[in-house]
Amino acid sequence: MTTTTEAITGELTLISGPMISASGMLGVGMGEILRVGNMNLMGEVIRIDGDTVFAQVFEDTSGMYLGEPVVSTGLPLSVELGPGLLGSTFDGIQRPLITLQQASGDFIDRGLTAVALDREKRWSFTPTAKVGDKVVGGDVLGTVPETEHLTHKVMVPPNSSGTIQSINDGEFTVEETIATLDDGTQLKLMHPWPVKLPRPYHEKQGSDELFLTGQRVLDCLFPIALGGSAIVPGGFGAGKTVVEQSLSKYCNADIIIYVGCGERGNEMADVLDEFPDLTDPKTGGPLMDRTVLVVNTSNMPVAARDASVYTGITLAEYYRDQGYNVALMADSTSRWAEALREISSRLEEMPGEEGYPTYLAARISQFYERAGRVICAGSQPENGEGGRTGSVTAVGAVSPPGGDFSEPVTQTSMRVAGGLWALDSALAYRRHYPSVNWNRSYTLYLKELSPWFDKHAPAGWLDLRQRISTTLQKDAELQEVVQLVGPDALQDAERLTLEVSRMIREVFLQQNAFSENDAFCSLEKNAGIQEALMAFYDESKKLVDQEISLQRILDLPVREDVSRLRDEPNDGFAAKKDATIAEMKRALAELAKS
Ligand code: ADP
Ligand code: MG
Repeated sequence: MTTTTEAITGELTLISGPMISASGMLGVGMGEILRVGNMNLMGEVIRIDGDTVFAQVFEDTSGMYLGEPVVSTGLPLSVELGPGLLGSTFDGIQRPLITLQQASGDFIDRGLTAVALDREKRWSFTPTAKVGDKVVGGDVLGTVPETEHLTHKVMVPPNSSGTIQSINDGEFTVEETIATLDDGTQLKLMHPWPVKLPRPYHEKQGSDELFLTGQRVLDCLFPIALGGSAIVPGGFGAGKTVVEQSLSKYCNADIIIYVGCGERGNEMADVLDEFPDLTDPKTGGPLMDRTVLVVNTSNMPVAARDASVYTGITLAEYYRDQGYNVALMADSTSRWAEALREISSRLEEMPGEEGYPTYLAARISQFYERAGRVICAGSQPENGEGGRTGSVTAVGAVSPPGGDFSEPVTQTSMRVAGGLWALDSALAYRRHYPSVNWNRSYTLYLKELSPWFDKHAPAGWLDLRQRISTTLQKDAELQEVVQLVGPDALQDAERLTLEVSRMIREVFLQQNAFSENDAFCSLEKNAGIQEALMAFYDESKKLVDQEISLQRILDLPVREDVSRLRDEPNDGFAAKKDATIAEMKRALAELAKS
């Protein structure tokens, strides 16, 4: 990165869609932001060849002419970090969409600059550090109530350190000085950060706490950890966006960063319309109060997708550094990969698999590596005063063409993410939602999470999970037998297994994202349904072993009661479940007697 203060001006020598080149740019560095053409479009240097630079441009380049000026800024692509991010909707380069819309109407004019954070708003700052304190990057200077429910920790920016010479409480705009250091550094509520550089932390920690999704199939069979990562690959309409949105609403993260990347305009419009109306189930207030949306649609320039992914993860790291658990949702990472492919091909780079650049895998893994649970940066990291841990959990949707998971983006993402929640178009077609395929999906976190489940989940969680999983496996084997020799070859005990598996699929694995009682499932309800299903299995098995006809068991109305548990509210579920199990046992015992 160059630190030249004087702007270098060259001229446009090539315009190729979202990619341009300019000559006369000696002294400009990789990753530097340029102002391109008379419209001042924002571009980022991605290759240097002598005095010629190649840049990806984040805005539409049509109507630009060769020979127009290209000016260096000396700065890398950066975001503004400070209070006021929550509740915002930004484009890929962190321009607030509302401001842009006000400035130019529904179609955003090019070359518009708009600051991310409101310059006029005053925030009430309460110092926690004092004059004479020695501070380093990451130390908390004080707090600002960013929203009703979230305290923003104002930190010393990562590269600053010194002794505090002055610090004031009061009302400040993001640009005003709240504290000074002995070397004269003026600290503000806001600081910039280059998005391609991971924000520093003290130490990465293990993944031993559940990232609660409220989705039965995920929390039970394929749980991931806070600070972990998962990918959600699935064909068109398989339910990726619904999964990402359900998690945004119900997961146990404090903050949601939702990156809508390159999906079609109408799908993004849905997200933009719906999010502001969503209620936060934790507070009853608007969900947007703890959410930042970063959006660009398929009709926006492809380079903006690249920027949006980095902008999103940087915002996530910033709240992580304050000691929060952050969930980053990216929908869809495939559109980002396609953008990389397009830019790479315009640079005439040697293509890798399916035309994607050879560095695709590196980019994807760097992205997921920025997830994690960390001991935050600062001078007292080890749980001392001011010591904090925070996490970024990353969930990336992947849209493989034709739903074929063998393609490079799915394969590469699978290698780096710790969880695979594989959506299945065949299940979606049968309206089995979420269409998570239980045979193909996996989690790498189960072992690390086991002690957490033992301690915090309802009693017997892991055993029940194992039984559900084994029953589904047996079901798959029996289905094969049925395919080969027909259902008549099965014993009643085996038929019972098939029947219970069907109940597991319909009552437990399926979950309606749009039903009030079903959309979110607590761990207690999750375990309760598993328990009821397994109790039905065990009790029925006893009767089958006594050669009581399976059909008579299945005809009992109590079986319906077990199935209906899914629609019971989370509150008071345990009592309802206990009553249902007791009634079921009674009815089965009666049948056994008769
Ligand atoms: P994708 O993003 O994979 O293209 P969507 O998430 O938009 O697919 O899902 C397509 C449709 O499937 C949704 O509009 C909804 O009708 C249905 N759907 C998906 N998941 C669920 C769910 N959990 N519960 C109910 N309906 C769902
Ligand atoms: Mg979608």
